[in-house]
Amino acid sequence: MRLILLGPPGAGKGTQAQRLVAKHGIVQLSTGDMLRAAVAAGTPVGLRAKTVMDRGELVPDDVVVAIIAERIDQPDAKRGFVLDGFPRTVPQAEALDRLLMERGLKLDAVIELKVDEGILLRRIEKRVAEMTARGETVRADDNPEVLKGRLAAYRTQTAPVVDYYAAKSLLRSVDGMASIDEVTAAIDRLSSSARVSGAGRAAKSSRRKGKSSKKAKRTNRTKRTAPKGGPRRKRSAGVKRSKNISAQRKNRTRRRLTRVR
Ligand code: AMP
Repeated sequence: MRLILLGPPGAGKGTQAQRLVAKHGIVQLSTGDMLRAAVAAGTPVGLRAKTVMDRGELVPDDVVVAIIAERIDQPDAKRGFVLDGFPRTVPQAEALDRLLMERGLKLDAVIELKVDEGILLRRIEKRVAEMTARGETVRADDNPEVLKGRLAAYRTQTAPVVDYYAAKSLLRSVDGMASIDEVTAAIDRLSSSARVSGAGRAAKSSRRKGKSSKKAKRTNRTKRTAPKGGPRRKRSAGVKRSKNISAQRKNRTRRRLTRVR
């Protein structure tokens, strides 16, 4: 199964992605997590991404596309994956299409978690307060000021991705304001129906392919056996007939001659 979870920061994509991983044995590919790991490890990608991420802006497309291209080729991604936080721009979505096409892979569905931005801001503020109270480290970009920038980036750069997948009839929407369990149940329903219709599409297309290849075989056979000037079967039948006719004529003449004698 290959899914994309779309939705603004704080919509619950990460939580739902983890549940999909547990249920389907697929991997979660979160560009945010991968970038944070790169920042922590101090890799060249991490160094390039850090300041952009701290401002709540988007890392350049080529950086995240390269990360995803490498990640989907790993053996653990063969069973499927859920993309969380990618694609975030239309060029990223187009690059993903190319990556999948080159590998003969298809997406089953793109699920959008629809949320109310005001409630979202309050949710994040609450989460930050809880984490601080527990003495946990809060992400540098998880403060209300940066979050406003991240929401703005979502509206201008990621919202068009929703339209991109709607135009491809892959988009399904879920009420992201419902409880976590309700959202999980809704995603389950959508992803299994998408898989069924995807399987139907695949079967149909393979039947179509089967038909056309049979037709092609037939055409090839005709081409191979047909001598110049028309199909052999017709000519050989014609030759036989004409041989028969001349033989009949000869016999008739012979009989007539015998009678005369
Ligand atoms: P996230 O954890 O998905 O909210 O991502 C945290 C930050 O990582 C974002 O605010 C961006 O700066 C960066 N980031 C993650 N994914 C992408 C992406 N697909 N394209 C560009 N920047 C990204």
